[in-house]
Amino acid sequence: MVWAIVISATALLAFLIYASACIGSQVYVRTLCRRRTQEKVVALTYDDGPDPDMTPKVLEVLARHGAKATFFLVGSKVDAAPQTAKAIVEAGHTVGNHTWSHDWRHIFRMSKGHVRDIRDCNASIEAACGVKPRLYRPQVGVTTPHIGIAVRRCNMQGAGWSVRSYDTVSTDSREKVLERILKGIRPGAVILMHDRMPQADELTEALLSALEARGYSTTTLGGLFKIEEYEK
Ligand SMILES: [Zn+2]
Repeated sequence: MVWAIVISATALLAFLIYASACIGSQVYVRTLCRRRTQEKVVALTYDDGPDPDMTPKVLEVLARHGAKATFFLVGSKVDAAPQTAKAIVEAGHTVGNHTWSHDWRHIFRMSKGHVRDIRDCNASIEAACGVKPRLYRPQVGVTTPHIGIAVRRCNMQGAGWSVRSYDTVSTDSREKVLERILKGIRPGAVILMHDRMPQADELTEALLSALEARGYSTTTLGGLFKIEEYEK
């Protein structure tokens, strides 16, 4: 009897951790993680920008390769660098919502707090770029029932990934990060990177060269899943 309770409680705990920590679990928020397709196309995505120093460098690399990407912007950073945010949209890329505050305490918030954060971020992006995002990427991929409620209330579409680069791990070399990404490349893959990292432009350059050599092209998240990226 005691063992049955212990096993049940452990299983429940494991499920709850999986539901919250795994972006692809779909338990609280339905997310776009990978499109099943035979076509050799992938979506590059960047979180945590805009960064006034690095984002323009990443845009330059993307333009040189004729590549398209999706940038999940932090509202407070958009307010601090509106011209950089605008340049992303003007270059033909997509912008999405990655919260206004990007506060680590977000997992303790109630749905009302998340609604405010999502709306504030969309307002910042709309003021800077003239578009209102529909795509929402939760912070560090962690979701809760309250985030799920807020995403539905704000009529947002959750966005995840199928390839996590772990490009924020400072001890990993660019080669190691690139190798990790390439291992996960398949038709329809969604790659997560960060344009606030010091080597984001070099990583993008190396990745695009490797993708081209493998016959892959890139698109935005909306282009990959054939969905509207902005509210009309
Ligand atoms: Zn983030």
